[in-house]
Amino acid sequence: MALIDSYGRKINYLRLSVTDRCNLRCRYCMPEEGISKLRHAEILSYEQMLMLAQASVQVGIEKIRVTGGEPLVRNGIIDFLKNLSAIPGLRQLVLTTNGILLKEMAADLKNAGVQRLNISLDSLRPEVFKQITRFDYLDRVLTGIQVAEELGFPIKINVVAMRGVNDAEFIDFAKMTLNKPYAVRFIEYMPTSKEESWQSLVIPGDEILERIAKQYPMKPVVRSALSGPSQDYRIDGAAGTLGIITAISEHFCSECNRIRVTSAGMARSCLFDDTEFDLKPFLRKGGEAELAETLRSIVMGKPQKHLMSNHDAAHEPFDMSKIGG
Ligand code: SAM
Ligand code: SF4
Repeated sequence: MALIDSYGRKINYLRLSVTDRCNLRCRYCMPEEGISKLRHAEILSYEQMLMLAQASVQVGIEKIRVTGGEPLVRNGIIDFLKNLSAIPGLRQLVLTTNGILLKEMAADLKNAGVQRLNISLDSLRPEVFKQITRFDYLDRVLTGIQVAEELGFPIKINVVAMRGVNDAEFIDFAKMTLNKPYAVRFIEYMPTSKEESWQSLVIPGDEILERIAKQYPMKPVVRSALSGPSQDYRIDGAAGTLGIITAISEHFCSECNRIRVTSAGMARSCLFDDTEFDLKPFLRKGGEAELAETLRSIVMGKPQKHLMSNHDAAHEPFDMSKIGG
């Protein structure tokens, strides 16, 4: 079965946030004191999340990304992932993490059936890493990446590009791909809380590519069916790839294949559309048919495109840590 929205897009990708809590406090995502945490009773149980995942796969979802907050801080996550990976019809189970707990957990993630890891890493310099995340944990993340690679995980590294913060490191990130089979992707900084001067942080993807190409010529890489919104390139002779995710400067809305569900069970059909649907009432035995119907109607209501540009943040402020990126 396929889920097709009103603009003919095939929706086959669910991003599921399993917690709003985190062991870092990245400046673009969370205030230092953290966010007002959801109470335990407001967070979906694993049983409810599994019900949601099964219903989603039945209506046409083929790929699930588990995200957060930081998904690895939720107790019981490994057993939950095992149950997810056993859902018949699910083609890809992937996870986004800040990498802090990877050293300890990567082997369990592999055994649980997680196929790929996206690891967020915005700087390779300890002082800049600490400035962005408010914690001095760069070494932990680098060790975690190494352990995951040795276990055979395909690795994607997500770098939020920020002018004046980490843009002096584009070449260092590009160099990582020369000998390692990593996919490094630069994500344009997105305004989540209407910071006054957010525009000054955004670096258009084209500028990132131009800056790298001056030193390393590269060629475009052909995309696969379940690949995300990243435009990918390979430096001549490199083991890995480089990509840009241009949510701001160039919408990829016409190819968007995703829906999101927060840890509180709120579904969003577009990151920048504030409309949310509460799925909790349907996440009970006997609610399966209504749940499937609701998922279909959420997909049918997916907007054609978001209205945000390099100059306007056309949405209400939101916590990325609740939605999961
Ligand atoms: N804690 C995990 C992590 O950091 O990878 C998963 C959740 S995090 C919200 C998911 C992704 O959203 C991360 O790659 C993070 O860098 C990205 N993100 C958060 N706030 C952002 C912003 N304002 N602009 C661009 N990307 C953002
Ligand atoms: Fe935590 Fe990820 Fe947000 Fe950073 S981006 S504060 S690691 S949820």
